[in-house]
Amino acid sequence: MPHILIVEDEAAIADTLIYALQGEGFTTAWLTLGQAAVALQRETPADLIILDIGLPDISGFEACKQLRRFTEVPVMFLSARDGEIDRVVGLEIGADDYVVKPFSPREVTARVKAILKRIAPRVDATSSSGHFSVDPERVLISYRGQPMSLTRHEFRLLHCLLEQPRRVFSREQLLDAVGVASDAGYERSIDSHIKSVRAKLRAIVAEAEPIQTHRGLGYSYSPDHS
Ligand code: CA
Repeated sequence: MPHILIVEDEAAIADTLIYALQGEGFTTAWLTLGQAAVALQRETPADLIILDIGLPDISGFEACKQLRRFTEVPVMFLSARDGEIDRVVGLEIGADDYVVKPFSPREVTARVKAILKRIAPRVDATSSSGHFSVDPERVLISYRGQPMSLTRHEFRLLHCLLEQPRRVFSREQLLDAVGVASDAGYERSIDSHIKSVRAKLRAIVAEAEPIQTHRGLGYSYSPDHS
């Protein structure tokens, strides 16, 4: 069963999560400090981390940034406030979901299951489209023979576009593809992921424009422009 690391300084909240998750068969570890969580993930990687934003040492955002330097483990933030900025910032730094306190432990458990299901590796073989080749096993996309350094969200986004050349995907569909709950307000994060992917493509070929913008609709991959 998947192992979940809970990083939360309020014991009562951690207790309800541990109880709910263990009741569903997950194994759990609990820490109260962000720095300790980053260190533990290096030593004994969890399959998913539930990360409180307001921690006594470093913020959950900072802990997530540090985690992203070496791991693509799914992260679900717990926040005391329902701030739109928090949501967007959280997703931009690579979180998978976001829950606002007070929450029901059952809801959190359901979301944990949903995230783990979304990220379950698909058994695709290496495929290629135009100048791209995709290796889902190694989470690697190469463009014109050069491996791209992509975040997990960027990889999923580009992979989704490449799988169906010329199809126009809405931001909502792309959010779904990257594995982010498509609540209102998250669409902006797709634009910033696209911007970042485009910059990485241009770093390989300056005039590359394989990702097309369709105003009011979304984005598509055009093999003709790659
Ligand atoms: Ca807290």
